[in-house]
Amino acid sequence: MRMYDVIAKKRDGHELTSEEIYGFIEGYVDGSIPDYQASALLMAIFFNGMNEREILDLTTAMMKSGDQVDLSPIEGIKVDKHSTGGVGDKTSLIVAPIVAACGVKVAKMSGRGLGHTGGTVDKLESIPGFRTDLNEEEFFDVVRKTGISVIGQSGNLTPADKKLYALRDVTATVESIPLIASSIMSKKLAAGSDCIVLDVKTGSGAFMKTVESSVKLAETMVKLGENAGRRTCALITDMDVPLGKNIGNSLEVIEAVDTLKGKGPEDLTHEALYLAANMLELAGKGDEDTCMKLAQSVIDDLSALNCLKEMVKAQPGDVSVIEDTDNFIKAKYSYEVKADRAGYIAHMDTEGCGIASMMLGAGRETLDSKIDMAAGIIIEKKTGDRVEKGDLLATLYADDEKLFDKAVQKYKESLIMSDEAVKRNPLLYAKVSRDGIKYF
Ligand code: URA
Repeated sequence: MRMYDVIAKKRDGHELTSEEIYGFIEGYVDGSIPDYQASALLMAIFFNGMNEREILDLTTAMMKSGDQVDLSPIEGIKVDKHSTGGVGDKTSLIVAPIVAACGVKVAKMSGRGLGHTGGTVDKLESIPGFRTDLNEEEFFDVVRKTGISVIGQSGNLTPADKKLYALRDVTATVESIPLIASSIMSKKLAAGSDCIVLDVKTGSGAFMKTVESSVKLAETMVKLGENAGRRTCALITDMDVPLGKNIGNSLEVIEAVDTLKGKGPEDLTHEALYLAANMLELAGKGDEDTCMKLAQSVIDDLSALNCLKEMVKAQPGDVSVIEDTDNFIKAKYSYEVKADRAGYIAHMDTEGCGIASMMLGAGRETLDSKIDMAAGIIIEKKTGDRVEKGDLLATLYADDEKLFDKAVQKYKESLIMSDEAVKRNPLLYAKVSRDGIKYF
C-alpha cells in the first residue's frame, strides 16, 4: 500500500478498502506514516466523508490499535457515558454517582480538556490527592467497592486516537462526522462497558453546530455501538449556552456537588437526570419514566452524593472538599463583569465563553500547559435573561490579575444583547436509539 495512492483516492472521492484503512492506522501508530501524509488524508476525509463500511473499519482499526479493557471480572452490567464536549459540561460528575447509587456499576475512563472544552479528569484532579492514574487492578477494586470509578485513559488505550486527535486539533479537521464518530466509539468500545449513553452536543459551544449534523453524528455512533453488541443510545442536547453556571475545574466540581444535594441549576439538574435515566434504562432498570424517578430519588436521599464521596475516598482524594466545598482553594483574584446597558441577552457565543475561561488559566492552550484548578467563571445571566445596566453578568476568577484584561474582553464579546425578549433554546432536542430518532 502506498500512502500517496490512498490520499489521492480519498481526495478524488472514492471509497477506501479495509486493507487501506487498517494499513493507514497501523502505519500511523508505528511511525512509518508521517504526520504530513496523515494530515492530508484527514483533510480528504473531512471534505469527502466516508461511507458506513469505511467508518466501521476506521473505528475497529483504531479500537484494535491498543489495549481493550475486559470488565468481566466486575460483576453486573457496566454502563458508560460520553459527551462530545462542551462548556460547563460537568454532567459526568453528577450522572456517574447517580447511576452507581441506583445499583448499576460505572467503570469510566475520561479525557482531559483541550481548547475551549473541559475534561472530567482535570476537574477530578482539582480534588487534592485524587488519583486518576489507577492501574487496572486498583480501578476494578474501586468499582467493586463503591460501584463507581472514574480514571484517565490508560496508557495504551486507542493510541491511534491519541495521535490522530492531537493532529486533528492542529489541522482544522476536528469537525468531521466520520472522524469524531471513530474517535469516540473506538475509545468507548475499547473501554469495555456493556451499555453506552452518548451526549451529543449541538450549538455554538459544540463541534456540531446544527441539530441536523448532531443527529447524523448520533446515528453513526449508535450504529457503531449496536453493531459491536453494546446497547447504545444518544441524546442531542443544547450547547448554545454554557451548561449550569460554573466553568472551570474546581468550580465545576462545586456545582456538581450542589446538584447532587438537590441545589443545582435547573438546566444542569434536568440534563443530568435525563442522561442518568437513559443509562439506567439501557442497564435494564425499567422504562425512562421509572428511571427518571429512580435517579431523582438518589439525589433526594443523598445516596448519590455519598457514592461520589466514597469514590473520592477510594481514589484517595481529600473528601473534606466534597463535604464542604468552601474547603477548595480559592483563586486569588476575582473580577465582576457588569452590564453596560439594559436589555436581554440574545446569544452567548459559548465557545468564546470557554476560551475566556481558558485564558484565565482553567484550560490548556497546548497539551503541556499547566492548569489553574481554581480559575474560571461563574455566570449570573444567560441567554434569554433580562438585565439592567450595572447588573452582574459574571464573576471571573484567576490567580494572576494580568489575565483579566483579555479574558474579560473575550467574555464580553461573547455576549450579544438585544432590546427584544429572546426565547431560550430547548435543553434536549432528540434521542437516537436502535428504534430510530425521537424529536422532543
Ligand atoms: N471527542 C472525542 O473524543 N473525539 C472527537 O473527535 C471529538 C470529541
